[in-house]
Amino acid sequence: MLGNMQQQPLLVSSLIEHAARNHPRAELVSRSSEGPLHRTSYGAVAQRARQAANALVRMGIKPGDRVATLAWNGYRHMELYYAVAGMGAVLHTVNPRLFAEQLEYIVNHADDEVVFFDIGFAPLLEQLAPRLPNVKCYVAMTDRQHMPSCVLPKLLCYEEWMGAESADYEWPMLPEDSACALCYTSGTTGNPKGVLYSHRSTVLHAMAACTVDGMGLGAAETALVVVPMFHVNAWGMPYAGAMCGAKLVFPGPALDGASVYALLRDEGVTLALGVPTVWLALFRHVEQEKLRPRAELLLGRVLIGGSAAPGAMIATFAEVFGAEVIHAWGMTELSPLGAVCRLLPRHAALGPAGKMRLREKQGRAVFGVAMKIVDDEDRELARDGKASGRLLVRGPWVAAGYYRGDGGEVLDADGWFDTGDVATIDPDGYMHITDRAKDVIKSGGEWISSIDLENAAMGHPAVAEAAVIGVAHEKWQERPLLVVVLKAGAQASGAELRAHLEGKVASWWLPDDVQFVEQLPHTATGKLQKMKLREMFRDYRLPA
Ligand code: AMP
Repeated sequence: MLGNMQQQPLLVSSLIEHAARNHPRAELVSRSSEGPLHRTSYGAVAQRARQAANALVRMGIKPGDRVATLAWNGYRHMELYYAVAGMGAVLHTVNPRLFAEQLEYIVNHADDEVVFFDIGFAPLLEQLAPRLPNVKCYVAMTDRQHMPSCVLPKLLCYEEWMGAESADYEWPMLPEDSACALCYTSGTTGNPKGVLYSHRSTVLHAMAACTVDGMGLGAAETALVVVPMFHVNAWGMPYAGAMCGAKLVFPGPALDGASVYALLRDEGVTLALGVPTVWLALFRHVEQEKLRPRAELLLGRVLIGGSAAPGAMIATFAEVFGAEVIHAWGMTELSPLGAVCRLLPRHAALGPAGKMRLREKQGRAVFGVAMKIVDDEDRELARDGKASGRLLVRGPWVAAGYYRGDGGEVLDADGWFDTGDVATIDPDGYMHITDRAKDVIKSGGEWISSIDLENAAMGHPAVAEAAVIGVAHEKWQERPLLVVVLKAGAQASGAELRAHLEGKVASWWLPDDVQFVEQLPHTATGKLQKMKLREMFRDYRLPA
């Protein structure tokens, strides 16, 4: 027997229309590419998104066409999120930090019709355009006064392109499984792979983000969205924000510590979201300028994911900022939210060290994402917090495959997606990532967690950043090498760092050597680039 309830497709356009009706005055503040801070509202964004949808139709964009953006976080980017998806086309958010060859590959692979771009990317596009034969038009996301002087085929000005259009536009009732957005993973090997989100997966994911134990977003929050709109849709914030009417603050291209701090302070930010590397820059600024964030900021929570949040970072936010770090785990293929770490009431009885051990975990699965860990024979492992194995996930906002099938089969016979991460899961469901499967260090038949070692090393006051890689060893197969970037002006010897790690990790995990470097290689999304690091140390031999 069927239920007797209304059938309504879950559509991205319904989010912005909901916001226009119920949160019309809630603010969106953007650091614009032109320089000044720009203020708008969900009501105005909805109106301009409808204008932009009319302009897309006029330009000949049809449902299913791919429309690219090469842009920082800002209100025009948000308008395109809704205009493009809402009218049935697919918003392809391109990560401008990728190498030119990768950019060329993904724009051609996606077969983008139009590229919308922030003016700062004009020189990059000028170089690329001759290699993008299918792009029919480029739109600079600015007004006439700030148009970049560049040579691009069919170059338009955003404000002129959409400004003259009517705001009367009826969003089409699309099937909810239609594609709405496309984001390529910045994998370290092979070509980037496209993850194609649907309207349904996006709306369901936004609902999960708004739940208290998800991201806990609500109308009372002012969220600083440092995580880029070109990386997994800024963790879904443009959608979740419209769903609940949170004030959103977009930092544009200014991600340095001083700019981020000014936005936190001046906009009364209560929740900030970003990967660990951006917070390291913020900490440096606070330390150098001797600022007092606890007294000056309203920051209550910081959502950190994308890479492990080291304990030292969690502690600095608590002590210096008075803010709680909420550690989260996800990936492009998961829209991205998979797990969020919040403590349970009974954890209140734990001491500081016990609480920290939990906070360093990536957390419990949000409803909608099922998780399990398996061994090399695909047998499910115990959820005892000790057994570690490949992390598999399944759910309505998990990818079922890659765009155009380029990336191979991704699901097993039962529909589980292999995340490529290695994790433990404890009896309460707290999942802890110990490594990327390809980064685990195999020593004497056992695994050493490079992430746990890195986190412990980052707890040393002289360490700015740490990475651990496995180095070939005659007897043990592999042994850990700790590679460290020291804070400006700080001093520490390898022996001191090893001594610092003693007692924090199993004694046989202690790195055989410590090397110091000026900086560590990062991917386009701020992750440690271990492959590159292993290359850098290819000829390195451990001390006898
Ligand atoms: P991406 O698709 O670029 O967002 O990368 C996803 C990958 O980032 C995951 O598979 C993990 O390896 C890593 N990752 C994301 N969040 C965390 C976290 N909180 N701790 C450790 N690794 C993480």
